[in-house]
Amino acid sequence: MKAVYVKEPKSLDVAELPMPSAGRGEVLVRVHAAGICGSDVHIYHGTNPLAEYPRVIGHEFAGEVAALGLELPPEKRGLSVGDHVAVDPVTSCGTCYPCSVGRPNVCSRLKVFGVHQDGGMAEYVAVPAANAHVVPKEWPWEKAAMIEPFSIAANVLSRTECTASDRVLVMGAGPIGLTVLMGAVLIGARVAVADVLDSRLETAGELGAELGVNSGRQNLEEEMLKWTGEGVPLIVDAVCIPALFPSLLRMASPAGRIAHLGFSERPAEIVPLEITKKELSIIGSRLNRNMFPRVIEWFGKGLDPEKLISHKFPFTEARKALDLIEEKPLETCKVLLTF
Ligand SMILES: [Zn+2]
Ligand SMILES: [Zn+2]
Repeated sequence: MKAVYVKEPKSLDVAELPMPSAGRGEVLVRVHAAGICGSDVHIYHGTNPLAEYPRVIGHEFAGEVAALGLELPPEKRGLSVGDHVAVDPVTSCGTCYPCSVGRPNVCSRLKVFGVHQDGGMAEYVAVPAANAHVVPKEWPWEKAAMIEPFSIAANVLSRTECTASDRVLVMGAGPIGLTVLMGAVLIGARVAVADVLDSRLETAGELGAELGVNSGRQNLEEEMLKWTGEGVPLIVDAVCIPALFPSLLRMASPAGRIAHLGFSERPAEIVPLEITKKELSIIGSRLNRNMFPRVIEWFGKGLDPEKLISHKFPFTEARKALDLIEEKPLETCKVLLTF
């Protein structure tokens, strides 16, 4: 079978690899669509500190069950060959402290498909049955492959307990910021989006943002004060420029929450007084903790993830697709590979 294979940093090929088989508790998935994430591009370029090589990349994928392994967990015994599934890429040990408190996405022995173990940009991949979530057969494969990116949004909105009475500022209208926007709008919150590109703000407006602020041209702090009168209850930072962090603390309302989605290793300067005085919650969010069922529900309620898909390529043109994201970030949103 063929797979998108990063042998070492900067070397990406479509390679012929041995056909996997479903082990105990696993199902074999015939992949039909896989999304490309910024982190795939980083693994390709050797700038993802968490990646191990060589690696079949891809953690946003969906396909059909091609074979069932032995001893499936009880809640997955209903799975059948031919079922359409989206695969949650997070696997965890089940026994460490974070696992014991329902946070398997930050398991001490976390293994993510496509990062720490071979992933979904392959014609076939064996995955734990527990990670395979059945989706309606009438959904296009592309839609099923969009569940993982939206699970990032579902996770951060769950961590921050976003409700219909919230006002939310989403920093950044790239693919992640837009999934957060769409999730928050579905929940019923009022959402403002900040970005430095008018074209992205226009997209955010079409997807339900009440207010778009060009933070390159406008004073975001002033605009937020005008919008809320008292500061923003919930800020989701999908830009994660450390230098902006002090401004987030200033913009948050008392009792507000600030969620952080980035992987910057640079320090940010903060004024601790702001956190104490306003009793702010600063919340990290990584991957997802069992959010696939919730996202499947969102898509069933009318959230249309295909609005974020800008390009599709056959997987044999994976390198072209990854290069396009790198070279034309403004023209691409979500880029998918089909198999
Ligand atoms: Zn991703
Ligand atoms: Zn664990």
